Amino acid sequence: MTDLPTIASKSPSSFPWEEALQRHFGYPAFRSGQREVLDALTAGRDAVVVMPTGSGKSICYQLPALEARGVTLVLSPLISLMKDQVEALERRGLPAGFINSTLGAAEIEQRLAMARAGDLKLLYLAPERLRDSRLLRMLEDVHLSLLAVDEAHCVSQWGHDFRPDYLRIHELSRRHPEARVLALTATATGRVREDMLRFLGLGAPPRKAPEVFVQGFARPNLQIHVRRCATHAEKFQRVAEAIRNWGSGIIYASTRKQVERVASKMKAQGFAVDSYHAGLPDRERSRVQERFMSGRSAVVVATNAFGMGVDRSDVRFVLHWDIPGSMEAYYQEIGRAGRDGEDSYCELLYNYADVRTQEFFLEGSNPSRETLLELLQLIRQRCLHRPLSLSADHWAEDLDSTRNAMAVRTAMWLLERANCIQREEEPGSPSAAVMALPKVDEQALAREIQQAEAKAERDRAKLDAMLRFANCRSCLHQQILLYFGDSDADQDHCDACGNCLKEQSGVSREPTQEEWEVVQKILSAVGRLDGQFGRARIGELLKGSRSKGILSAHLERHRCYGLLSNWRLEDIVRWLDALIRDGSILPSDGSYPTLGLSERGREVLKRNEIPDLGELRGPQMQAGDVEEADDPELRERLRSWRSKQSRIQKMKPYQIFSNKTLDELILKCPQSEEALLDVSGIGPQKVQRYGAALLQMLQET
Ligand code: ADP
Repeated sequence: MTDLPTIASKSPSSFPWEEALQRHFGYPAFRSGQREVLDALTAGRDAVVVMPTGSGKSICYQLPALEARGVTLVLSPLISLMKDQVEALERRGLPAGFINSTLGAAEIEQRLAMARAGDLKLLYLAPERLRDSRLLRMLEDVHLSLLAVDEAHCVSQWGHDFRPDYLRIHELSRRHPEARVLALTATATGRVREDMLRFLGLGAPPRKAPEVFVQGFARPNLQIHVRRCATHAEKFQRVAEAIRNWGSGIIYASTRKQVERVASKMKAQGFAVDSYHAGLPDRERSRVQERFMSGRSAVVVATNAFGMGVDRSDVRFVLHWDIPGSMEAYYQEIGRAGRDGEDSYCELLYNYADVRTQEFFLEGSNPSRETLLELLQLIRQRCLHRPLSLSADHWAEDLDSTRNAMAVRTAMWLLERANCIQREEEPGSPSAAVMALPKVDEQALAREIQQAEAKAERDRAKLDAMLRFANCRSCLHQQILLYFGDSDADQDHCDACGNCLKEQSGVSREPTQEEWEVVQKILSAVGRLDGQFGRARIGELLKGSRSKGILSAHLERHRCYGLLSNWRLEDIVRWLDALIRDGSILPSDGSYPTLGLSERGREVLKRNEIPDLGELRGPQMQAGDVEEADDPELRERLRSWRSKQSRIQKMKPYQIFSNKTLDELILKCPQSEEALLDVSGIGPQKVQRYGAALLQMLQET
């Protein structure tokens, strides 16, 4: 047996690793990156290795473990994973074992004795075992060749799964200067990598400077697209198209409600899809996962709860119905496509308004200082001496600082941790019994608040990075590599992302002078009306229409009235939609959304940022035929409803509604009776007679 540092003093690169790989594992060659890591270890250096799941990180410590004198300690957080790994090694006849909480002191001592005698080369350990100071002492007289820290991002609060026990590993590395430290993870941004170095003590004397390897993030077989969608109808079309074109895939949505909605819409269109989210019973979830894994189902609509253990290799597409909260989540989710190396398709259906869902989660998991203090005060007023049982929704109703029940639940949990309140969940009920403790632990409370604020800042930064990605105009593959710090990020062009393909086809370009003027006119009208009107009314204003809606709101006197009077209304609305897709214009929530300017919109208005107009082209759009408004599905629904009415009422279809009225209904998509009255061909009588049916059809869009 050789000791790694000793090999180092000879010639690291001449160590016969290839032969060892063949002998222990039967693999003929190293995968990209593995050999370099081994060379660093043999040179006596510690290393940080960031490579995606499945790229073969384990070989980087299993192989040296078998070749070096002494024991390799593998710190791994998941007991089940640990067992799998040990069993896999044992099957190959490789001497591995683990120490877990079920073992008594005598058994632990026995395993360590085996390790000392060279009968166990790899010893797996969960980081929480390091709380046991006796174990640390027992380990002291074991010669450790290597300390492999799996899922090492858990040492950082910037990672997605911070585990305080990881901070104990530093103590172990300090006690064992003879052991090389190898920190491994599948994702780590620059900040997480810095934390890994710092909190694991890498580079601290007497250790040599560590090496950092980041690679393997490139997934050239994935076509990556960000599609700006102005309406849900457009998103449904994209989903249907992906299923038709690509067959098997996953559609991720951020909320359970959206999952149900997308799944039922697709089923109504005749597609066989399953849905998956944490609100479903365990049995149903296992059934859906099992069907998908075995290839008996092709498409799953899911929240991010669907993922762990989904390693079907022929997933052909991954769609995101709305924007995820971080690049880490996004990359992990699209990474489920194309594991077999075949071409696969990834599309983010981006509508800036969806960011609100993520902001809701952000607030929900990071209640503000105001909310924490306000809630504590309220609890102290109401239940200082006896418990009170209320749901989070109830509490939220009485707070000024938030209406977000999720934020209340998180705040309760933080207040409990700060020893300010006592709380007991009531099984099967949304309520929990809460009681304020007589004394407020000011110090603990201040600590919780400070931590919560730091976490809110981190989560916000992650969402902002995701938004920058969605809005960027350069190569999407490169953006991903840059984000993860992959050393292969020097290529700024590919032929597999929406942005590069657009550039090649000449679609992506700066607006012309005339187009800029139009954009500015539209944005200044939206800005001046500041959230008071919807897209149809703003279109009419710019057109200079004398519709009822314009006249009753006295908009004919507005300074933007008629700014685009020589344009067709349809074209103006199409430009409004393009600017909504671009994220410059932001529709409000609710069934009759009004439009406002986003931060980006303000920048575009000043020409500090360039809008993406998609395939729209300049004022030549004034000419040409009137095109159909673009929602064939809604058109079909309205038409078949109209023919049914005409049969029932023995009238001609056009007597119910003319085609022009249908066009306008599709274009304006009114969401209230009042808005219906603005559609030509619809008066109060028709609203009374058909309003409810129409609104229902339009709301299903
Ligand atoms: P990671 O830890 O990065 O998620 P693993 O170490 O579990 O990935 O490796 C994934 C699979 O690839 C395992 O089955 C492993 O045995 C295999 N593998 C690793 N390195 C090689 C190699 N050089 N040649 C062939 N197969 C390899």
